[in-house]
Amino acid sequence: MKAEGIKMEKLAQRYEGKAKKVYDTTDHNYYWIEYKDDATAFNGQKRGTIEAKGVVNNKMSALLFEYLENNGIETHFVKLLSDREQIVRRLDMIPLEIVVRNVVAGSLSQRVGKEEGYVLKKPVFELYYKDDELGDPMVNDSHALALGWATRRQLDDMQDMALRVNELMRALWEKAGITLVDYKLEFGVWEGHVLLGDEISPDTCRFWDRETGEKLDKDRFRRDLGNVEEAYAEVYRRLREALDNV
Ligand code: UDP
Repeated sequence: MKAEGIKMEKLAQRYEGKAKKVYDTTDHNYYWIEYKDDATAFNGQKRGTIEAKGVVNNKMSALLFEYLENNGIETHFVKLLSDREQIVRRLDMIPLEIVVRNVVAGSLSQRVGKEEGYVLKKPVFELYYKDDELGDPMVNDSHALALGWATRRQLDDMQDMALRVNELMRALWEKAGITLVDYKLEFGVWEGHVLLGDEISPDTCRFWDRETGEKLDKDRFRRDLGNVEEAYAEVYRRLREALDNV
């Protein structure tokens, strides 16, 4: 899907999330997104600021959505406006998160009793119901269907897209010298079909340096490892280099 010509103005704020503000625009079909430096973890229990995070996440998401679009994945991304702002299509969000895993880390490590770093024999796909009050519980397809969160067709489309996104993302991040450990995707409906939405950034992915294993993502904030800003900047720099060589 090609970027439409943009002639819209920013209107009132519609919603303020943990990492982004969402504004209406003069065109009802689009949102104006502003990425913030605020960081939260553990369902909002840990709060802080990561300087320039909003800039990295905004620009990195834009680059990744463009890369995916160029490779046949439809996304909500339309246009980068500034360091912190982008225009996206206004999706009817499906209240599910798909977590894709290539290597064991985080909550999976505890759940299956495997050490962080265990390389999975094939990618794992997990569904979570998006609800802060419930702490985003893990669910399966039958929950999603029985509770009316998505149709069979939408679940199949999300699954197919997640599989394809994973192939494309792994190839790209390998060029950047980074292991794509795991990440979270969100989807929504636009004109009747499923598009990839939200963001793809060090807030939503685990990135490990392929040589040293160093963590280059939000785990540095979650686990108080220090050099958080530097890690976000480094991963963005390497992504740009890798895209120059695609
Ligand atoms: N993730 C996310 N938002 C969420 C939950 C998970 O972006 O609400 C990402 C997280 O950054 C990691 C992956 O999904 O890259 C898997 O997270 P996991 O389930 O291991 O949870 P965590 O260890 O972060 O509690």
